[in-house]
Amino acid sequence: MTTTVGILGGGQLARMMALAGAPLGLRFLVLDAAPDACAAQFVPQLLADYRDQTALAEFARRVDVATFDFENVPALSAQWLAERIPVFPAPNALAVAQDRLAEKNLFRELEIAVPAFAAIDSRAALDDALDRIGVPAILKTRRLGYDGKGQFRLRQRSDADTAWQALGAGTVGLILEAFVPFERELSVLAVRGRDGSFRAWPLTENWHTDGVLAASLAPAAVSPELERAALDAALKVAQALDYVGVFALELFVRDGALLANEIAPRVHNSGHWTIEGAHTSQFENHLRAVLGLPLGSTAETGHSCMLNWVGALPDPEPVLASPFGHWHDYGKAPRAGRKVGHATLCAPDREQLAHALVAVSTQLQREEQVAGALSRLREG
Ligand code: AMP
Repeated sequence: MTTTVGILGGGQLARMMALAGAPLGLRFLVLDAAPDACAAQFVPQLLADYRDQTALAEFARRVDVATFDFENVPALSAQWLAERIPVFPAPNALAVAQDRLAEKNLFRELEIAVPAFAAIDSRAALDDALDRIGVPAILKTRRLGYDGKGQFRLRQRSDADTAWQALGAGTVGLILEAFVPFERELSVLAVRGRDGSFRAWPLTENWHTDGVLAASLAPAAVSPELERAALDAALKVAQALDYVGVFALELFVRDGALLANEIAPRVHNSGHWTIEGAHTSQFENHLRAVLGLPLGSTAETGHSCMLNWVGALPDPEPVLASPFGHWHDYGKAPRAGRKVGHATLCAPDREQLAHALVAVSTQLQREEQVAGALSRLREG
């Protein structure tokens, strides 16, 4: 019997999930209110809002299991679906990961180190928190923030009023975090099956531009101790949430130690390299987890660097001409700040990856985008 996986959200993550699910014989249905949802170029779509009860009922009728491409699906809609069909990750796990305050509290409970933070529910609370945490600091909305959206960086105390106004002057829940002058940003991509089995891909190192992921390198060259600490933290989080599916745990490295930033309760941009760079991609393992199938090997097949294309696609030729190049065009219209595609270079060793990265980035005039990854590769 054919299995249909329903995906809430029809963006590039749903699109790549459907591509990974085709060899498994899976069918898909996406629910998305955007008429240009890019997964819908080859996946059937229910064109409706996540809150539309009639559409949710039809979605539940037509799919065997549901998952997410978008983590900010309203909790009530996810709950409504979960009462009718299997939904993974479960709505309660999603609820924690949707809320920066709840996830920071969970990290603390699990004894995973976090930057200093405070819940902000009034202008006076912001002043109190600034007294305690100091500047620089980052004020963030508790919900609906991603890719650096819903954030305001306070460089000095006198920025407090501007930050307060910029983030809604108390109309939405906020959290203040100490600004971490990190040495590195890492992410753990991990997957947990319905039976509790757990696997993690090699650690990924990430570089952001204006809060948006620019480049990822994997496996990240880190000490075995740091790698173990990161994987331990991910396992603890997954178990505490009884999580099913793929998630990313974003970490900062400060003075050689880890600080947890946030959990993304879904396949993640920093795991796109796993499509070509690992035995089983994050997309396939997410589907395996959600369907209760055995998880595939997360071992790397080489050394990978993923470059995000934000705003518009560059010329694909240099990537396609590279012996290690893989091109991903999400079929989206160009727009400032929008993720429209990515490329992954996957080479047998670090030297060849560095070489290919220089060739591609020079031709595309993207030297700045690869600078962090390149210097890491050259560190040996
Ligand atoms: P987020 O949406 O929390 O993942 O933030 C996006 C990016 O902003 C992160 O990947 C970091 O590069 C930066 N960032 C977020 N929080 C902090 C922090 N507390 N200190 C320093 N940089 C941060």
